[in-house]
Amino acid sequence: MAERIADVYFAPARVKKWKYSESLPGKLERLLKKIGLPRYFEKDEWVAIKTHFGSEGAHRVVRPVFLRKVVEALRSIGAKPFITDTVRIKGLDYLEVANQNGINHLSCGAPVVLADGLYGNDNIMVKAGEILGEIAVASVIYDVPAMVVCSHFKGHINAGFGGAIKNLAMGAVSGSHRHCGWRCGRGAMHTIGEGMLVWDREKCVLCLQCEEICPLECIEFKGGEFTYNDERCWRCGRCTRVCPEGALVLPADDELFMRSLAEAAMAVLSTFKPGKVIYINFLTEIQPECDCMPAADVAVVQDQGILISDDIVAIEQASLDLIMGKAPLPESLAEEMGIKQGDDILMGLNRKPYLLQIEEAERLGLGVRKYNLITLS
Ligand code: SF4
Ligand code: SF4
Repeated sequence: MAERIADVYFAPARVKKWKYSESLPGKLERLLKKIGLPRYFEKDEWVAIKTHFGSEGAHRVVRPVFLRKVVEALRSIGAKPFITDTVRIKGLDYLEVANQNGINHLSCGAPVVLADGLYGNDNIMVKAGEILGEIAVASVIYDVPAMVVCSHFKGHINAGFGGAIKNLAMGAVSGSHRHCGWRCGRGAMHTIGEGMLVWDREKCVLCLQCEEICPLECIEFKGGEFTYNDERCWRCGRCTRVCPEGALVLPADDELFMRSLAEAAMAVLSTFKPGKVIYINFLTEIQPECDCMPAADVAVVQDQGILISDDIVAIEQASLDLIMGKAPLPESLAEEMGIKQGDDILMGLNRKPYLLQIEEAERLGLGVRKYNLITLS
């Protein structure tokens, strides 16, 4: 049987003529026409636009203007889109974050809803794989028949990079399940064993950043001693990621983490019939860390553009290939770390075996790493 090669359509970020069709929003319109939305979506069909709302200080999310273009394109074929994400902090607060980052009905032209309810525990257990067993998929994602996955492509301290796989694995799965808690949610990917936080008194400088970042107010320093509510803790790892001294650690295994991301993405995609999900990766404002952090750093590499495909593995591979070896931007973390043109910038930033994400996704049959890059003329 002939080897399958996926099509990935690409709109470069560079503008060569001062006209709307050459702008990135204009090019996104053209990409959406190119892929042919009626091949995937039907009249009156509800379509989830899955994105990440960001956080109060991390503004480099997929911009509302792009979400609006996706909404308009879906409406033009008679589909009924809405924009969604799962709860990362308290649900009402997270809707405010979305609003602050410009993601609301007025700006995007479609309702903005929480995929797993105000409390983040409205989800359905779905079969995953040998690492996770089952995972709690947000009920809105579980029920909706079709989806456009809009991902801001960037670096990530644990995953090496965050793209479409991570947007589904972490972003379409809840932090907690009503009965089995964090063990059935994102925490099952973030940690191993019982996932007990380990605090190193010698390294801790009592900056209290871990306490401030915890979305569930689990952490408290009593008389200079670290305490946390193990029962309530989601094992999201945010407290460990902001610790400037490496004084707080959540036990983890890089290989298991990468492979479990692919497994969770597979579980999410198993709730859709074939041919009902497409992916858009935005290679813009490629900062070193996730959009859930309390701040967004400057971009480490120049904007590359927008990719669209119906193959999640191919679009991730193409995204990685586009930034591989590119020059780090002046005054960015990449330059500060001594990363040079020609280096693997993502590996240099976070030292994670990130390719495992897509290798495992391909092994699980989610897509193929070989692709035709079709660049807009
Ligand atoms: S891992 Fe840390 S930040 Fe996350 S819920 Fe637990 S204590 Fe809070
Ligand atoms: S963030 Fe790290 S250094 Fe700061 S208080 Fe927490 S454990 Fe200590």
